[in-house]
Amino acid sequence: MSKQITVIGGGLAGCECAFQLARLGHQVVLREQKPIKRSAAHQSDTLAELVCSNSMRSDDPTSAIGMLHAELRRVGSLILGAADAHRVPAGGALAVERALFAAEVSSRLLQSGQVQLVAGEVTQIPEGTVVIATGPLTSAALTDQLAKFTGEKLYFYDAIAPIVSADSVDETIAFRQSRYGKGGGDDYLNLPMEKDEYLAFVAALKAGTKVKPHEFEEPKYFEGCLPIEVMAERGDEVLSHGPMKPVGLSDPRTGRRPWAVVQLRHEDRAGTAYNLVGFQTRLSWPEQKRIFATIPGLKDAEWLRMGQIHRNTFIDSPRLLERDLSLKAEPRLFFAGQISGVEGYVESAACGYLVALALHARLTGTQFVPPPGTTALGALYRHVTGEAHPEGAAYQPTNVVYALFPPLPGRVKKQDKRAAYAARSTADFDLWAAQAPHPVAAAVPPVPQAAEVTA
Ligand SMILES: Cc1cc2nc3c(=O)[nH]c(=O)nc-3n(C[C@H](O)[C@H](O)[C@H](O)COP(=O)(O)OP(=O)(O)OC[C@H]3O[C@@H](n4cnc5c(N)ncnc54)[C@H](O)[C@@H]3O)c2cc1C
Repeated sequence: MSKQITVIGGGLAGCECAFQLARLGHQVVLREQKPIKRSAAHQSDTLAELVCSNSMRSDDPTSAIGMLHAELRRVGSLILGAADAHRVPAGGALAVERALFAAEVSSRLLQSGQVQLVAGEVTQIPEGTVVIATGPLTSAALTDQLAKFTGEKLYFYDAIAPIVSADSVDETIAFRQSRYGKGGGDDYLNLPMEKDEYLAFVAALKAGTKVKPHEFEEPKYFEGCLPIEVMAERGDEVLSHGPMKPVGLSDPRTGRRPWAVVQLRHEDRAGTAYNLVGFQTRLSWPEQKRIFATIPGLKDAEWLRMGQIHRNTFIDSPRLLERDLSLKAEPRLFFAGQISGVEGYVESAACGYLVALALHARLTGTQFVPPPGTTALGALYRHVTGEAHPEGAAYQPTNVVYALFPPLPGRVKKQDKRAAYAARSTADFDLWAAQAPHPVAAAVPPVPQAAEVTA
């Protein structure tokens, strides 16, 4: 039953898709432009590079993203398996040590021998069955070629947060604490601000020099990942109710909640670096250094990476794709990951998984039965196929959120809603897994202990 498939893009979606296709018995050629060419945001030569935050967000099984984690674990996801193997402390979030995570993905993916990795940029779509998983930074040549199939512009703008060396943060000012004491209770380093410091900081962000987009590019930001200066421009209070909110935190030196905080999250298990949570920005690099030095505790910061602006590429999937996620105009082409209009590492991997199932069904003459919309995987599928959206609404990338799920039946108290969503999802997922006409789950490999894989 072996069929050869080309997957373009060795990111979160492409690796998951190739892995799932291989375990379903197909031969896969995975074409990745690195190490020969890299986008402006990619910094390593590994597969499955996490380009910004090292967090896969909440692991709480009653949150929408936590539900997606749980479902991906159940289907033997490559990405979740590797993430679990290389977790770093991050409160209730699933955050990973990125280099070890990427190495784990490569080794699990390539060890079967059914995936052949070919390096180099794809500029022409190859013959045969092809999965396009080239992500938000699809190279320009391929974007141009894809636009011929879709007939429209395929990108908008998004931004990336800076990383600071841990030993350059002044720990006489910073305090360790997780919001509401979640997880380890002290997984985050918090930089507290008084009201006057905060307002001066907001004013500096507004006045700071930003990197200008090219004349022909109209910046369109994803609402969930706005640059801090764009938030600052929307009002003085916006940041203190957003990424700088102080709720659930108390400065042990004053015994009270600060006016605002900058939260630092571990970049690595050894604790040598932190990222500034939610601090994606398009300020110029010299301006970032100048303005961020005014944050209490960062006067002598050593920056390991500055924030950046980046392009996001996606297609109007509800209009352009069939129900099996192939292109209506060219059914041998499938789209997986962020390019299909999902947002986030885990969502992109999930989309890679869904495409593998749909493609397997096509190649084996089986009916593709997507997970029910009440599950997190099914909710993402509802988004990509347009079922979750009102008629005529513009298609925008999104993370997995409860708004994508069908509403709960009957009246459910607000405080019981998350548990109700999770319970319904688990029951419906079980039913789907038992009844789908195609296999849904890979054998789940054992999670190696950190010591085994770091040795
Ligand atoms: C700067 C930036 C910051 C982000 N921050 C976050 C974050 O903090 N958290 C989060 O969850 N998500 C974040 N995202 C979104 C994140 O990129 C996606 O969630 C995820 O990486 C998408 O997975 P993907 O597999 O679709 O694409 P990617 O992971 O980007 O993988 C695509 C791969 O295709 C390769 N490629 C591109 N063009 C070609 C070509 N022509 N030929 C061959 N190979 C090609 C690329 O080199 C890359 O390896 C960010 C995105 C960007 C760009």
